[in-house]
Amino acid sequence: MSEFPPCPSCNEEITYPDRENYVCATCGHEWPMSAPEVSEESTEKVVRDAHGTPLSDGDTVVLIKDLKVKGSSTVIKMGTRVTNIRIVDGDHDLDCRVDGQKIMLKSEFMKKA
Ligand SMILES: [Zn+2]
Repeated sequence: MSEFPPCPSCNEEITYPDRENYVCATCGHEWPMSAPEVSEESTEKVVRDAHGTPLSDGDTVVLIKDLKVKGSSTVIKMGTRVTNIRIVDGDHDLDCRVDGQKIMLKSEFMKKA
């Protein structure tokens, strides 16, 4: 029975500790004693702009096309800067304020400023 774990590289059992690492006597492979932590899977949805840049709350975005506001005759022009966005769930995933009006927009028509 080996006191130390076998080498993950060559599977030989002749290994020894060296400071923070284990070392394989056979192939010289070194690996950390503590198994690398599996990063917790983020359940948070990443909202990305038209170029794939992740957006977060408080970001400023610029419209990349004219957008008609659903249920009104308002058109938000391409190039309009929208500050302090808020990421929300849903088809329209950005909660924005344009000219003092609360409007839901889609991140796919935005570009991070
Ligand atoms: Zn080895």
